[in-house]
Amino acid sequence: MQYDVAIKNGNVFTGTEFIGKMNIYISNGKISKVSKEDLNAKQEIDAKDMLVMPGLIDAHMHISGLKGGSLLKIMFEKPEYRALRATKWLEKLLLAGFTTVRDCGEPISISLKRAVNEGYIKGPKIIAAGKPITQTFGHGEFSHDIPLEFSISLGFSEICDGTESCIHAARKVLRDGSDFIKIFATGGVLSQRDRPDMPQLSFDEIRAIVNEAEKAGTYVAAHAHGDKGARIAIEAGIKTLEHGSLLKEDTLKLMLEKNISLTPTLTITEIIYKYGKTIGVDEWGLEKIVEVRENLHKVLRKAKELGITIITGTDMGFETGLEDYDIGKNWTEILLLTEVGGLSNEEALRAATYNSAKALGLNSGLIDEGKDADIIVIDGNPLENIKDVSKVVHVIKQGKLEVLDGKIINNY
Ligand SMILES: [Zn+2]
Repeated sequence: MQYDVAIKNGNVFTGTEFIGKMNIYISNGKISKVSKEDLNAKQEIDAKDMLVMPGLIDAHMHISGLKGGSLLKIMFEKPEYRALRATKWLEKLLLAGFTTVRDCGEPISISLKRAVNEGYIKGPKIIAAGKPITQTFGHGEFSHDIPLEFSISLGFSEICDGTESCIHAARKVLRDGSDFIKIFATGGVLSQRDRPDMPQLSFDEIRAIVNEAEKAGTYVAAHAHGDKGARIAIEAGIKTLEHGSLLKEDTLKLMLEKNISLTPTLTITEIIYKYGKTIGVDEWGLEKIVEVRENLHKVLRKAKELGITIITGTDMGFETGLEDYDIGKNWTEILLLTEVGGLSNEEALRAATYNSAKALGLNSGLIDEGKDADIIVIDGNPLENIKDVSKVVHVIKQGKLEVLDGKIINNY
């Protein structure tokens, strides 16, 4: 058998365990052999003294192409220009070793996904929600002071009230080409006059959306901070829970029982908490972040203790211009899982690969025969020093070498 690509002599972390020195052989976009044997391939990469592992996954982003932290100021930018800016984000993400990103709400992500798939631009595989679904006076309206008509015409979210209206919103979003449906089940930090603990959308409304998603063979991801709203969403059948900052133990136990993953989105929380004022986050966001952050760390530790599937999502949705937290440095979420969540290096790397892939229903996130060949080579060892996860040198996405020696291979 002639293999397309071979990655030789690297130390391999499979996504669940370290298996030492192995050669990985790829054909037709899949991993076809993991072995000590030395075989021929059309293209060979020497990974001697390097760590080979599955490509990283950011399971919660907004590839909006926005710049700056004040949503009030930046949300009026034209989508065409935002899309152009976002193409640079995608290159940065690929260079950083992200082979998959799930966009949790941003209309332009559907076109970006198509452009990546058709080879016009370079970037990770995108799983897109398209427009998120929100209620009137919900988290999906950033500002509650602008006239409602302005909010609707901005087109960021699909606004619905009542089950009929929610069914229509779900069908519209699916028609637009979303891969899953994102809803806002509570208030949030960066929305003006709601609070993170306020439930949004009723059980019947969420149930109706879940039903439409399931009919289309997909699932619902719910933004939920407050315990009450989260519980309603969980009982209504959502699959992944985003943020979860004010969850109580009983609700976490229910998540475990129903196999619902938690995306704690630590990165955006740190950005707003530490640098919100510097980057121009609106006053209401700064006021709400303190309580959310403090509780989130407790929830995360409890979730780990209970054995809930923790996955990585930065929730980054705008360029910050900051040195330590910005687009393309999305591995900060992995670092934070170890720093504030008490996860071991191995557990944090597993969250960013195996766990995220499993929660999102992907055939990647694991170095094993038959899995999608999304693989990165790191000039360092993040199992020992977690910060080494930033030292990605080669990236293979769906069996193709996309980044070699820290440079994107442009073959359009
Ligand atoms: Zn988000």
